[in-house]
Amino acid sequence: MRSVLTGTGAARGMALGRARLEHPSRYLVDDSPLAEHEIEDELERLRRAIALARDELRTLREKLHGSLEREVAEFIDAHSLMLADRELTNGLFELIRVGRYRASAALKTQRDRLVAVFEAMDDPYLRSRKEDVEHVLGRVQASLARESSVEERRLAARVGEILVSDTVAPSELVPLAERGVLGVVLSSGSQVSHSAILARSLHLPMIVAAHDALSHIQDDDLILIDGEHGEIVVHPTAQDLARLRAWQRETSQKSKRLALLRNAETRTKDGVTISLHANAESPADVAQARVLGASGVGLYRTEFLFLQRKEIPSEDEQFLAYRDLVLGMGGLPVTIRTLDLGADKADASGLVMDDEENPALGVRGVRLSLRHPQLLVSQLRAILRASGYGPIRVLVPMVSTVEEVLSVRALLQECARDLRTAGYEIADHTELGAMIEVPAAAIALGGMIQSLDFVSIGTNDLVQYTLAVDRNNDHLAHLYDPLHPAVLKLLAQTIATARRAKRRVMLCGEMAGDRRYTALLLALGLTDFSMHPGLLLEVRETINALDRERLRAHAPALLRASTRARIEGVLERLSSDD
Ligand code: PEP
Ligand code: MG
Repeated sequence: MRSVLTGTGAARGMALGRARLEHPSRYLVDDSPLAEHEIEDELERLRRAIALARDELRTLREKLHGSLEREVAEFIDAHSLMLADRELTNGLFELIRVGRYRASAALKTQRDRLVAVFEAMDDPYLRSRKEDVEHVLGRVQASLARESSVEERRLAARVGEILVSDTVAPSELVPLAERGVLGVVLSSGSQVSHSAILARSLHLPMIVAAHDALSHIQDDDLILIDGEHGEIVVHPTAQDLARLRAWQRETSQKSKRLALLRNAETRTKDGVTISLHANAESPADVAQARVLGASGVGLYRTEFLFLQRKEIPSEDEQFLAYRDLVLGMGGLPVTIRTLDLGADKADASGLVMDDEENPALGVRGVRLSLRHPQLLVSQLRAILRASGYGPIRVLVPMVSTVEEVLSVRALLQECARDLRTAGYEIADHTELGAMIEVPAAAIALGGMIQSLDFVSIGTNDLVQYTLAVDRNNDHLAHLYDPLHPAVLKLLAQTIATARRAKRRVMLCGEMAGDRRYTALLLALGLTDFSMHPGLLLEVRETINALDRERLRAHAPALLRASTRARIEGVLERLSSDD
């Protein structure tokens, strides 16, 4: 039966695929009791599901040949026997008949019971059989859910998979994309999580905070997801598929329209040139940035180089990656951010402390780098060596004190000296900047700006830390608000302080690529944006239709507004002005 679930769109795009639930047996089941008159139907449903699971096992068995047959057949036979085991099935039927359990709840209860029995066994072989129980009952659970039409099953067999899970770590996303997963649905998470940022970079449609996904979607269900509007259609109809085709047509028309803006200038109606840089995580992002006419790479998140692997990349490996990045941008400036590991960007390198009570406020970003100076040195050396191939700037994340900046600068200078002595050709001067993403750095920027060559505002974290709202906690999504008056004040103050000190100020958080905020940011005086390259053309289109001078005139009203509602009122006036 068709049903629609909602969540929050986190990475645009639509995808049609078979749901692949992670650990389906773990998920919630409907545990409301059956009414008397429902019992017979439920017993019948379970019988059908068991028969279906048995058929599937038989088909699977017939497909096996050669060594695979020898290895796997034994398991399949054991599973088939288990399915025929009266004790197991009678127990299930009893739960439905007497306990009024729904079939899926009966399966779960039976599973939990049997697993407990096996776990209590002394014999390790018997103990390991609990996995067989899980497999067998999981298979019945899946077939129970597969009450789809023949046509739908046929279609499902032809499409790829969409992952449905509670969370996904950034480090898991790349292998998923490489395996051809078409999209991701998460029951928790947020749009500004690093997983969401990476999904956008990988062009993997993603929906987060779809609270009902795990209880309503079953393994192998055909689902249609809309990563822009946060909608999941389970068992889509022909009409839904027509919508998918319409979206595909619209997307291609929109990209044709926007393609005209490739390599066009980004200039407001009153003639102010705005720089649009790209945030890049992968070589594909760099290529896209070039093709679309980005002014440079404004944020290269190096931690993704680290997250995709088990050990720390060497100086040489990093050098090659940074050199390719610089060469890929063909002479345009590239801003490389030093490692921002920690909090949700943990990897297998063992560097990130896993016993922190509060990792978001813990050893993250520059704090981690300064704890492991040898790591920072190898990264700075790699960056400096790449500076011989094109303009590079170094950006330091999570700065909260000027001392951190000075420590990094000292190391940068030392590395530059050593490299020159060793005969490397590196740039004469490499600019050093700080991410302004901790409120302390924004508030005290005046005392720090002279030690910096430029700054870049990281609104993803600035909003999180200013409002004390975890950027990954979907229960607080309503409080994670870039339009909070406190955030606007910090943005305005940071931009003004940097401009007064004649330092470049860029904004590279997700706000920069969200056209709903473009007029606001221009009004606050921002002229350098950095965003995912996929958003560049639409932001360019928006900017080219705005009048900066008129927007600037509204800045005082924006900053006077004491509530979000008033701020929205001013923003509405901004858009009606143009
Ligand atoms: C930010 O915090 O806004 C930012 C750009 O950095 P990240 O999202 O990688 O933390
Ligand atoms: Mg950040």
